[in-house]
Parts: sequence; structure tokens; C-alpha cells
Amino acid sequence: MSNSVDLYCDRCRASVARITLYDAGEGEGMWQKEKRLERAGFIGDIIKFGHAAETVSLFESLLRGDYVAADRIDPDFVGFYCDDCNKIYCKNCWDVGPPEFDEGFYDCTYGTCPEGHEQTVDD
Ligand SMILES: [Zn+2]
Ligand SMILES: [Zn+2]
Repeated sequence: MSNSVDLYCDRCRASVARITLYDAGEGEGMWQKEKRLERAGFIGDIIKFGHAAETVSLFESLLRGDYVAADRIDPDFVGFYCDDCNKIYCKNCWDVGPPEFDEGFYDCTYGTCPEGHEQTVDD
């Protein structure tokens, strides 16, 4: 079974992100001991732990290209997905706004898709 998937922009075909599912003990880095899903690319990298079944079903949704399911499981992980368009866009196609702060702490980042839909792209 493939344990990684490369996602490409529906608009310009550029790389959006590479998602890799690691078993405990695989890969490198400080989280090497944990089973995890890593997103490399888009607005910063994300490592998702937590419930193994949820992590696997998120990965399987992305493998199938089922972003509706993926968005339901973890909207932040698929921040590159516009649910109004039902498409994914790379960070160059999103018009990504400045980071928003709440009382000095990072809160989230909004973006606007090429069709003008605004949503949170990073949380
Ligand atoms: Zn693009
Ligand atoms: Zn859109």
C-alpha cells in the first residue's frame, strides 16, 4: 500500500502538498516514535496525531480524492480545499491573507480562492 499521496492544484497543476502516513518508528524527526500523518507544503507543515483510526480514514479520504470526507474529519489539515468550489488550490492560487492575531497570539489565516470564496486556510 502506498503511504504517501501528492496533491495537485485543480487550477494550475502545481503541487499543493504531499501527505504521508507514517507508522510508529517510520520516517525521521522528533515525532518518529508516533503513528502520524504529515502534510508537507501549502502554508507550513502539519503533523497530525491522535486517534489512529481517524488519522487513517483522513489519509484514505485524501487518497480517494474525497475532500468532503477529509474536510469533515479535519478542516485545518485540508485548508487548501475550497468547499464552495469542491476543488483544491495551491498556495499561489489562494490569495492568502496576513496571519490574524488574538490578544497577541496567532489565531488563524484567511484566504480567498480564485473564485472569490473566503475561508480559513490555516487555524
Ligand atoms: Zn495553483
Ligand atoms: Zn472557491
